[in-house]
Order: sequence, then structure tokens, then C-alpha cells
Amino acid sequence: MPRYRAQQIARWLYGKHVDSLEEMTNLSLSDRRRLGEVAEIRAPRPREERVSADGTKKYAFLTDGGDVVEAAMIPDGERRTLCLSSQVGCRVGCRFCATGAMRLRGNLSAGEILNQYRSMPERDQITNIVYMGMGEPLDNLPAVIESARLLTAEEGYGLSNRRITLSTVGKPAPLARFLENCDVRLAVSLHTPFQEQRRELMPGTRGYDLLELMQLLRRRAYGDSRRVTFEYVMLKGVNDSPEHADATAELVSGMRTRVNLIPFHPWDGNDMQPSLPAQIEQFRARLERRGVTATVRASRGLDIEAACGLLATKHPG
Ligand code: SF4
Repeated sequence: MPRYRAQQIARWLYGKHVDSLEEMTNLSLSDRRRLGEVAEIRAPRPREERVSADGTKKYAFLTDGGDVVEAAMIPDGERRTLCLSSQVGCRVGCRFCATGAMRLRGNLSAGEILNQYRSMPERDQITNIVYMGMGEPLDNLPAVIESARLLTAEEGYGLSNRRITLSTVGKPAPLARFLENCDVRLAVSLHTPFQEQRRELMPGTRGYDLLELMQLLRRRAYGDSRRVTFEYVMLKGVNDSPEHADATAELVSGMRTRVNLIPFHPWDGNDMQPSLPAQIEQFRARLERRGVTATVRASRGLDIEAACGLLATKHPG
């Protein structure tokens, strides 16, 4: 086929969201037939939808392998954030995360990742996308890079890379590859400034050096002035002490960054407790006094298990 066909096909797929090759009417019949021999268009709609009292929606999608993954749409004023998944389950196994308790069941293809955007009923209102749902995106790097490329490419969905954030525990080697290949924003899950405790809380980070990660971020991410934030789930009596705040401030000192404190959401089968709001505020204020911008994330979609760390397997059948 002539080269310009690629652009025509991309326009049908990502601009007009067609559901069949027959709708690509500016392609000749023979080209549509040839295409049909090697490709198909599949964009499965969500099989289940739940709506929170605060307007957050959670959608369940069936994967090709018959598993269920979840995506959440979080409204906030004019903003509509899509939180999408990159894996079924996760092998990092963070002690406070329901997805981690599932362990890893499989990787999503780039198409399955993109479809959470493509087939979301609110697609055309989405202003921001975060890879913060189920899974550790860097453990499924090729599909994640491909999906992010298609979300941002002019011939793809054409979204601004400043509106897309990838959340990761930050294994240095795949992170370096990601930084080379992808220009979206980064949110690094820190959760404690102490390496040994981090390995305990996030078993999948064993074997990875926290200081190596910080060096990489300082050298690479800040070298190309990419926006990086740190995520920190607040666990009562575990990581919410003044010593944790001081060591966190020390770890990120000199970086233009923000530490985002996330209230923990307890779930059945987990005995961790959330830090009290006053403790979270003290932690935040202590970081600020040491020159670190710190915010507290509002909890959304709690009543439908769509809040941070709760996306998991509660589906009928
Ligand atoms: S918090 Fe993220 S990295 Fe940790 S187990 Fe859950 S999904 Fe995986």
C-alpha cells in the first residue's frame, strides 16, 4: 500500500474511532480486504461499571486471557483523570496494596492498555491519564511505551505528554530505558526513605538500590527537566514518624519536586492502619518546613473500591 495509507488508517482508528475496517471508506475495497487478512479492530466495552457517591467511576474490562482489569475515571472540577492499568495483578507485592496481594497474573498488551481510554464512555472529556491502576508499568515496558506513544503521537490520540503520568516503584534499569523512550511525566512510589524498610514494604524492590534510583532521577529525569513527583502512602506507626519526614526531605533535597501524601485505605485481609489526618498534616508541614513541597491526595471512589491501592478482583463471576 502507498505510505500515506498508514496515516489514513491511523486517522480512522484514533481520530474517528471506527469499529470496523469497512468504515474506512477512503481505502479501496481491495486494500480493506488485504488489511482484513492481517488485522482486526477490537475495542471491547467495559463489562461492568460502578459509580461512587463522589462521581468517581470504575470500569472493569475483560482481557484476551479472560481476566478482569480495572480503570477508574476521577472527576475533579473541570479535570477528568483516567487511572488505567498496565497488568493483571502485580508482582511488586506492596504490603498495603490489594492489587499486590493478587500477585501477577499477566501483562496487558498495548491494545488492552489503550482500550481503557478508547472504550471509556467519558473518553472525550478525559483531561489527564495516569498509569496508576493495577500493575507496575515498568514490568510491562514494551506495551507501556507503545501505548504511551500512541496516546501522545500526532497520528495517534494526540494528547499532551504533560497530561500523562506514569507511576512506578522505579527499578533503575527499566526506568532508564523508559526515560530514553518516553517523554511523559513520572510519579515515583517512595513510601519510605529507608531502603531496608522499603524492601520490606515493597518486596519487589529487593535487589534495587534506592540511592541508585535517586541518582538516576537527579541525573536523567531532571537533566531533561521532566516533571517528577514522589508518592508516599501514609501508614500509621510504620512510615509516618518525624524521622521519616526528615529523611524524606533529605533524600529529595535540591530537587524541584513534590511529595504527594496518600491516605491509606484499609481493605479486608490487610491489618495495616491509616495514619490519622492530624499525623498526615504534621508530616506534610514538617516536609514543607524543610523546603519540600508536599500535598495530601484527596481520597476518591472509596465506596466502590476505586481509591488508590484498592483496584483488585471484586467482580461477580
Ligand atoms: S502499589 Fe503499585 S507497585 Fe505496589 S503492588 Fe500495588 S500496583 Fe504493584
